[in-house]
Amino acid sequence: MSDQATSGFSHEKASRSYMISALILAALIAAAGFIHFTLAAKEKTLSTTAAAAQHEFAMTQRVALLTAEFQVTHDEALISTLKEAATTALAEHEEVSPYVLSALSHGLADQAGMEAGTADKKVRGLVNLAFAFAGNPDGAEAKEDAQGVADFALKDVADSWQSAVNGYIAQAQKEIDLLSKIGLGLYAAMLALVFYQMTSLVAPAMAHIKAQRDHLEHMGSTDMLTGFYNRAMLFKVVSTLISGAKRHKQPLAVLAVDIDDFKMINDKYGRAAGDAAIKKVGLALNEVLRTSDVMGRVGGQEFGVFLPSTDEYRATFVAEKLRAAIENLQFSIKDAVVLLRVSIGVADLQPNHKSTDDMLRAAEAALQIAKDAGRNKVATAAGLASPAAAPASPPTEPVTGQT
Ligand code: GH3
Ligand code: MG
Repeated sequence: MSDQATSGFSHEKASRSYMISALILAALIAAAGFIHFTLAAKEKTLSTTAAAAQHEFAMTQRVALLTAEFQVTHDEALISTLKEAATTALAEHEEVSPYVLSALSHGLADQAGMEAGTADKKVRGLVNLAFAFAGNPDGAEAKEDAQGVADFALKDVADSWQSAVNGYIAQAQKEIDLLSKIGLGLYAAMLALVFYQMTSLVAPAMAHIKAQRDHLEHMGSTDMLTGFYNRAMLFKVVSTLISGAKRHKQPLAVLAVDIDDFKMINDKYGRAAGDAAIKKVGLALNEVLRTSDVMGRVGGQEFGVFLPSTDEYRATFVAEKLRAAIENLQFSIKDAVVLLRVSIGVADLQPNHKSTDDMLRAAEAALQIAKDAGRNKVATAAGLASPAAAPASPPTEPVTGQT
């Protein structure tokens, strides 16, 4: 039986589909991984940039406040603190600014980048002015500048930095949201793919495997030529019949049915014709038997038939019916009509019978009596069972003729 015949399933189609699905899945996983890492990097840049900008802003603000305080109080002691703060602010600005600037202006938010550039210039101006003021605290120009620096630091620098950072955050957030949506879409696509695999590939594959297993089980228990039980399966089934019959004290009969002069059919018409004859005989026997009877092919052209709830005497009638049915069978090979005959040995379950084999041997011993008596006959261990039914001179050779 071909693959398609059993379940409409094709290995080639399935493996192609698996390959394509695996490739798509790998691409989806790679894309999801890329998005995952891009998202993580963006989030990290976002938080670092925001923190750096925030620090930068705090430093600038301190310088400006010190400058303003000095202007109001004229406290000389503040000068060194102011210088120190301005120096630190400048140093940190030099360190942090390039990173923040590049993060802000790297194609993420043009507006934010510009604002950040402006803020940077302002920070530098502020710190320079703070230095100038610290170096010349009495100069009217310096005082004016200090006032300007303080206002500017508290408003412009703060605003510029803040709007730069806000713009950056908004832009980055938008990208993160978009990437998250794409990521979700990819995960949904993966789930859809897995679902597709389950429904359209795995389910038919499972059905196919089940059909194959059923087929193998059937083949293991069935005779390939006739489709009836093979010897092993017949023995298995009948062992249950034997124990049931013994337990319920019921009779169980057995018939050993063997085709007469079969070798001649093989020799004359070929083995294929012999096979066809075996099949034909099996089907004809089955026609006569009841559904409760159990038949199997036990040898080349020998059938074993077990009749539940039947004793040897009654079984001889069944055997005679079978013999007559085969005798009347029309079997032609090419133009020739071949007359088939069978001999049948009959026995029934005896107390010393422990297995199917024991019973079959008893029937085969009776079969030998039928063969010895000239074939096309039914016999029990006691002798011929139906001499009247058998022809006086049974053919020892298949009779052939023209149709
Ligand atoms: P008898 O009347 O005594 O039964 O003689 P016979 O020629 O039928 O001899 P026997 O029952 O011993 O059958 C043996 C022949 O059966 C020889 C063997 O080639 C043939 N045979 C056994 N199995 C098969 C089979 O599966 N197919 C075919 N075509 N022939 C088989
Ligand atoms: Mg034979």
